[in-house]
Amino acid sequence: MEPIQVTGIRGLPLIHEGDNIAAMISERIAVQDNDILCIASTVYSKAKGYTKTLASITATDRARRLGNLNGEDPRFVQAVLDASSDIIMEHPFILSELSFGHIGVRAGVDQSNIEDGMVIFLPPDPMGAAKAVRKEILTLSGKDTGVIITDTCGRSFRRGQTGNAIGWSGFCAIRDFRGDTDLFGHVLKITEEAVVDEIAGFANFVMGESDNGVPAVLFRNCPKWTGHDDLYFHNDEDITKRLLKKEVNGD
Ligand code: GDP
Ligand code: MN
Ligand code: MN
Repeated sequence: MEPIQVTGIRGLPLIHEGDNIAAMISERIAVQDNDILCIASTVYSKAKGYTKTLASITATDRARRLGNLNGEDPRFVQAVLDASSDIIMEHPFILSELSFGHIGVRAGVDQSNIEDGMVIFLPPDPMGAAKAVRKEILTLSGKDTGVIITDTCGRSFRRGQTGNAIGWSGFCAIRDFRGDTDLFGHVLKITEEAVVDEIAGFANFVMGESDNGVPAVLFRNCPKWTGHDDLYFHNDEDITKRLLKKEVNGD
């Protein structure tokens, strides 16, 4: 097996609305078939204009109450509420569900790596975003790469954020080991591996979080996998969500 190569794509400028990220990346790196290109949601959203100035946001009563409770600007809280399809927890931070199934702290709304007084939203349709970037790369380079849109996310049980895949195209999210046999012939009954999150996690490490200026990472020679795309727990399976909502709402 060829060693897996991981390359942070340097030299990209600050991204603004209207920029063509796929073109900017293709100009800086020669992609090959089966490469996997990870792109930070932050730059995808900036390019598509999924941003707002705080000054343009009017806080509702709920946003003012939660702003007070959590020590945050009510206009920022309003942006979080607007981006959420459901609020799972209000305090000590807002935990949101988004319409595409992701659950994230403050709905993944960021105030970093953008000008003062602005917020960046996660792309509303990250699966569509990954598909569109992949198609664009194919048109520009003739190469069929996989694409993952990433975001840095907090997690339960452990300190420290990691990169997660919020959209992907070109492969399935989960590598399904169920039915395989281990080294001793035991049949695996449970193991499904969230490969897109593992790749997003390493991409996130290469990107860094602050002023590194590396919003895209290319993986070459990753082994292929098969499985399915059912990454998010369904409501009836999600024990954590159920318990948190019970804690907050008593239902
Ligand atoms: P997120 O994880 O998607 O929220 O994005 P981050 O804000 O953590 O940024 C990930 C990486 O992209 C870091 O290396 C940032 O410095 C870099 N980055 C963010 N915005 C830009 C940009 O507009 N241009 C460039 N070149 N890099 C950026
Ligand atoms: Mn983010
Ligand atoms: Mn990040």
